Amino acid sequence: MKSIYKMGNKIFVGLDTCANVHSVPYMPLLTDPRPADRSIGTSGGETSARLYGNFTFMVDIPYYNTQKRVNVSNALGMPDSGLPLLSVNLLKRSGAKHSNGYIGFHGDDSWVKIECVNGLYGIWVTPIIPENHLSTNVTDQLHDAQPPERFVGQPRIESIDFPPKIANEYWSEYNENRGEFTHQVFTTRSRSNTPEQWLNDWYDCMFCSYAFLVTPPSNRSNEFYVQLFEKIDHDFSKNPHDTKILIIIQKAPRSSWWKYLCNYEIIDEVVAESLFYIDKDGKHIKNGRDLIVLYRDINTVTKINPLILLHLRLMHFSNVYILDLLKKNVDLGLTINETFLKMAVDYFCKGCQVRHRKLPVKASHQDFSQYHPFQYVCMDGTGPLPVESLHGNFYIWGVMCMSTRWVRVFFTRNKDQAEVFVVFNRFLEFVQTNSRFDIENLFVTERLLTDLGGEFLNKSMISLCVKRRIAHKFSAATMHHQNAHIERYFQTLWTE
Ligand SMILES: [Zn+2]
Repeated sequence: MKSIYKMGNKIFVGLDTCANVHSVPYMPLLTDPRPADRSIGTSGGETSARLYGNFTFMVDIPYYNTQKRVNVSNALGMPDSGLPLLSVNLLKRSGAKHSNGYIGFHGDDSWVKIECVNGLYGIWVTPIIPENHLSTNVTDQLHDAQPPERFVGQPRIESIDFPPKIANEYWSEYNENRGEFTHQVFTTRSRSNTPEQWLNDWYDCMFCSYAFLVTPPSNRSNEFYVQLFEKIDHDFSKNPHDTKILIIIQKAPRSSWWKYLCNYEIIDEVVAESLFYIDKDGKHIKNGRDLIVLYRDINTVTKINPLILLHLRLMHFSNVYILDLLKKNVDLGLTINETFLKMAVDYFCKGCQVRHRKLPVKASHQDFSQYHPFQYVCMDGTGPLPVESLHGNFYIWGVMCMSTRWVRVFFTRNKDQAEVFVVFNRFLEFVQTNSRFDIENLFVTERLLTDLGGEFLNKSMISLCVKRRIAHKFSAATMHHQNAHIERYFQTLWTE
């Protein structure tokens, strides 16, 4: 019992998009427990579950200002695991929805916000613990799974440390030169310079379609600023024509986020101890450190550094070779220092990124040549597509022959076991009817490799494989590289 996070009578439950089991580390959370006798395959290998049960909890529904009871059946008791975990896949199959940072339980508008605690995504729930929850024989097996003595890891609430109002002398100058700014992010009402403002929920704010003044607090971590700049860049590209952004941030040329400034124009620098801010009585306050004022709109030119220029001039020459040349003291006509080489991959040559994706991939060292065509196939699906196809489909299924790498693609409307069953049946028939040779066991599928998705792991699929004498192999959960060939195929399919 190392890491249950608790807040009042709520506990934090992690959400896992890859796992196909719900699990609970704390036995009294399970109602109606019954001993389990089979082992469970997880991404970490086989584990023997000691008992199954129902995990019942209440979630807050802010929209209705009420609580909703959620019952998760067949949750595994796994005393050695960390915090309680809910599988998003299983929740979805029982009617829950997952969208854009929220999860919805049965019914409209019952959305619960997914939060991040200590790097883990999940939701806060109020568990319902029954009184007489364990029968005696089960209790004997569970002597080491005692309730935790203390809960660790209170979520850290960051104090509001937003900078004060900007002095009028500066503020009116920016407004005159760059048009009026209407929305301020990272501020409170009393400190805001603009008519509209956002508080600390900057991550929910879309940095597009308005004229923003962004005044981030000055003492956050470098990762915070990287996140901020990446979000602004991402949002800006959604509507560059109507977006203006003015950022006032401390001057820190040696920090890891400084490279993101290539998208901005530096319109002003304010040295430390200037009277840049005013307090609520209109009294001037000095700024403690050097500040820079960044501006970006549709006309702002992205600055490139000499290394990219060289890269383009040398016909997309690899940086490895350029480094090599530098080490050999070859005069390239410009001075390149270490900081240029550390530039973020995202901001390096976009053309090369596209090209890399289209390059052929070296064949793997696995040898499938001993198999006949179609003898060993792997299968996986992708989707949903962003729009409905001509025939009303949303999902793509690929069945790949391992020895020839030949792929047959199928389309379905839903991602469920019935549709996958039909798809695989169609493939088997296709293989049989297309073998023009009358030799038995030449074009017969004998092995199938899939991941552990519920659409592949069910009774109808098992009986089909038994009937057709197909050995069905599974790659372990989340180990996508074990099913690498078909995953690679989909990667190519999506980027083309
Ligand atoms: Zn390039």
